[in-house]
Amino acid sequence: MNFKNITVAGSGVLGYQIAFQAAFHGFHVTVYDISDEVLEKAKSKFTGLSDSFKEDLKATQQQIDETHKNLSYSSNLEDAVKDADLLIEAVPEDPEIKIEFYEKLAKAAPEKTVFATNSSTLLPSQFAEVTGRPEKFVALHFANEIWKHNTGEVMKHPGTSPEVFDSVLHFAKAIGMVALPIYKEQPGYIVNSLLVPLLDAAVNLWINEVADIETIDKTWMVATGAPAGPFGILDVVGITTAYNINKMQAEETQDPLKLKAVQKLKEDYLDRGKMGVLTGEGFYKY
Ligand code: NAD
Repeated sequence: MNFKNITVAGSGVLGYQIAFQAAFHGFHVTVYDISDEVLEKAKSKFTGLSDSFKEDLKATQQQIDETHKNLSYSSNLEDAVKDADLLIEAVPEDPEIKIEFYEKLAKAAPEKTVFATNSSTLLPSQFAEVTGRPEKFVALHFANEIWKHNTGEVMKHPGTSPEVFDSVLHFAKAIGMVALPIYKEQPGYIVNSLLVPLLDAAVNLWINEVADIETIDKTWMVATGAPAGPFGILDVVGITTAYNINKMQAEETQDPLKLKAVQKLKEDYLDRGKMGVLTGEGFYKY
């Protein structure tokens, strides 16, 4: 399978990055979203992204101009997918929205179109049937700031055809990702299967007063050579995410350590506007 025309559905935090990244690498990309107003917003975000590509990837103005030429926009689903070889779905992380989207897409897309979901937490088998083409459906998971953190986790569900799996891995490579094959469904893919337990353990050590934040980070960095420790990573991810994960666990388990973590993250950080790198302060100052 040779993909040329790509449609990205959803132009939010991840969708517009995926669209720009693919267009930068020479693919014809159609950006689809629910309305022309939302698409206008996406267009304005591409200017900021162009600056990041110039700064971080040393992209030339000519490359940026070519990228813009490769992008087109539509708020009409039939129109947006009529020539698509591959559709990458980056609509909100809400099963109902995704199911409704795939139901419409199944009718609108030509038979040749492969569908890939960028969902972070939902497994592709949950949507495989409703796509109407389970063999042409796979997960393709990107990380935020995809031009820098260029992982392309490609994950099969039990019905994905080997040809589709290989083609999507090939595509991920072609747009500058490090293509990472995942042969079995795994909640959290590889990256979050590794990262979430690490971050969780770090918060537990801190809340249990075993060691302070700086010491925990220093230990991890010196011992493994990692450039950041778990709290440094949490500042990048955003402390809101840490809070949400701990809150979910606390509600489920009523574990006193988790309940204390939730309270501390809220009172000492979120309520004081310390969300991490994005707000200039989290566990560290930036
Ligand atoms: P977002 O809320 O920023 O953007 C979602 C976009 O989808 C919006 O532009 C919205 O208008 C649009 N949308 C809503 N309903 C739609 C529909 N029916 N059809 C088409 N578009 C529709 O969300 P996001 O953070 O970009 O996340 C999108 C997907 O990417 C989720 O599945 C999420 O898990 C995944 N993801 C997010 C991140 C991240 O860091 N934000 C990282 C990896 C993967």
